[in-house]
Amino acid sequence: MIFMHKWFSFFLIAFGLLVPSALAANDAQVHPHQPAPQNHTAHWSYEGETGPAHWGGMNEHYSACAIGKQQSPIDFQGAYTASLSPIAIDWPALKPVIVNNGHTIQVNIDNGGTMVMNGKTYKLLQFHFHHLSEHTVDGQHYPLEAHFVHKAEDGTLGVLGVFFVEGKANKTIQKIWNSAPLEKGDMQAHKKIKPATLLPKDRSTYRYEGSLTTPPCSQIVDWAVFRQPIELSRAQIEAFSRLYAHNFRPVQPINRRYILQAQ
Ligand SMILES: [Zn+2]
Repeated sequence: MIFMHKWFSFFLIAFGLLVPSALAANDAQVHPHQPAPQNHTAHWSYEGETGPAHWGGMNEHYSACAIGKQQSPIDFQGAYTASLSPIAIDWPALKPVIVNNGHTIQVNIDNGGTMVMNGKTYKLLQFHFHHLSEHTVDGQHYPLEAHFVHKAEDGTLGVLGVFFVEGKANKTIQKIWNSAPLEKGDMQAHKKIKPATLLPKDRSTYRYEGSLTTPPCSQIVDWAVFRQPIELSRAQIEAFSRLYAHNFRPVQPINRRYILQAQ
């Protein structure tokens, strides 16, 4: 599928039917005094003039990053205990495509299972990693956080967060790192991966309503972040941080929201 898409794009470019965006970017550089064209894919990053403090002003489609009142990530403190039904997770083992997309390492999932949260069924689309963690607990970061991104039929997203602490080497993480491209691109995993092995034993979670943590920062996410971290080794943390030394958005104001703590 991925390769078909590449060849299809190549075909379009070769026959002049599609202008590659790189050419448009080069053209913009020729006229440095003109304002950059606004589009859906304005270049954003985690530092400097294209960093998180500037996302909202970079592009009209990114305005929620600046003015949204339900933004993610947040710091978890003062959570209210609630009795909510447990999250039901059903993810099979698979050989996914692993993508280095310039912002993170992402594992794309085709027909990779579901989760049910608050009575709603969501399909798993992908999971990816942040270093340091995006969410914090009482102001403290973990070294790494995984986000399992699911989508429901009504278009809302359900994202499960998993914190990692330094400890024993993690076999599933090793399989992912071994197949992760060092530069922008994608690669089929060499071995089968069981995403469910990246969940902690204790399934209690922090839950709240928030947003994507990258532009366009859309406020369409039902968040659940597991309270118990899982382990990976120092070497595995360093392997990721060599690619992405800093790919987390700072915590955002909680505003009029509540954090729930549930099984
Ligand atoms: Zn994320």
